[in-house]
Amino acid sequence: MSDLLQRLLAGERRALAQAITLAESTRPEHRTETERLLQSLLPDSGKAFRLGLSGPPGVGKSTFIEAFGLHLLERGHRVAVLAVDPSSQVTGGSILGDKTRMERLSRDERAFIRPSPAGRTLGGVARRTREALLLVEAAGFDLAIVETVGVGQSETAVADLVDCFCLLLPPAGGDELQGIKKGVVELCDLAVINKADGALKEAAGRAAAEYASALRLLRPASARWVPPVLQVSALEGRGLDGVWETVLKFRATLGPEGIAAKRARQAKAWLWREIEEGLTEAFRRAPPVAAALPALEAEVAAGRLGPSAAAERLLALFQGKQP
Ligand code: GDP
Repeated sequence: MSDLLQRLLAGERRALAQAITLAESTRPEHRTETERLLQSLLPDSGKAFRLGLSGPPGVGKSTFIEAFGLHLLERGHRVAVLAVDPSSQVTGGSILGDKTRMERLSRDERAFIRPSPAGRTLGGVARRTREALLLVEAAGFDLAIVETVGVGQSETAVADLVDCFCLLLPPAGGDELQGIKKGVVELCDLAVINKADGALKEAAGRAAAEYASALRLLRPASARWVPPVLQVSALEGRGLDGVWETVLKFRATLGPEGIAAKRARQAKAWLWREIEEGLTEAFRRAPPVAAALPALEAEVAAGRLGPSAAAERLLALFQGKQP
């Protein structure tokens, strides 16, 4: 057993950070080492409850996670927080990568916080987070929170990583309610309205009622679980117990078989995602495709060639290259 593996299994935070850095590396020799490491700790992974948390910027995600995390440390849990931040793709900067977030939680020995890995594609970022999740579990953390900014595709990727997907929402309904896409609501197992305090308390109550009826409408009626809408104040630390109890109730509703089935579905979805990414990469790199691609792309953009005709031609070039 390698030294790193041994220290990781002993729950050493430094070893965990090193292992994640190794997993984030794109160098081929690091990839090989990572695969070997992940393979040998498979029996020790999968033991944490995986909670996804998504919400728009400014809703209070880091305030909530810090308060919630500290609360759970007091109850004897070990909490890891991983971030999936697709924003760096668009803006070149990162919303969730900021090191000053959750300072108190990150100083605690029983917690572990990892900012989002940099990556070109959401798929790449999410894949590394999935591997980090396995490493965190092998290091003995029993609650893993995967955080993402609600700016689009990332919710789906995160929902495919976790057992329970929680939406953190601002104390406003009406127009902003229209803003949450149906697809995201369908992923949501639990909605939490934050900032239910001071002058915002009443608005939070109204928003909770609106979200509750929206969720009832949008979720299939046959579901065993109707996603509850809770109200908290992350700032004042109120309502956190209720969130944890609801998460536990959700876990009990799924049961060990339900969780295993969900993870099996997710693993299959990941398999296909990896295949699609691998194929696309191989396709782009294949010399006949690479040679023809710029001209065909330009033809399509100019409207002189239909996208499906161009795709067909490129796929034929790709397949012709195979032995
Ligand atoms: P994030 O972008 O979602 O991580 O949001 P932050 O945690 O950075 O919070 C954004 C702002 O909302 C900060 O100014 C927080 O102090 C404030 N905030 C967070 N939680 C609460 C809360 O429960 N009540 C109130 N009133 N403000 C909060």
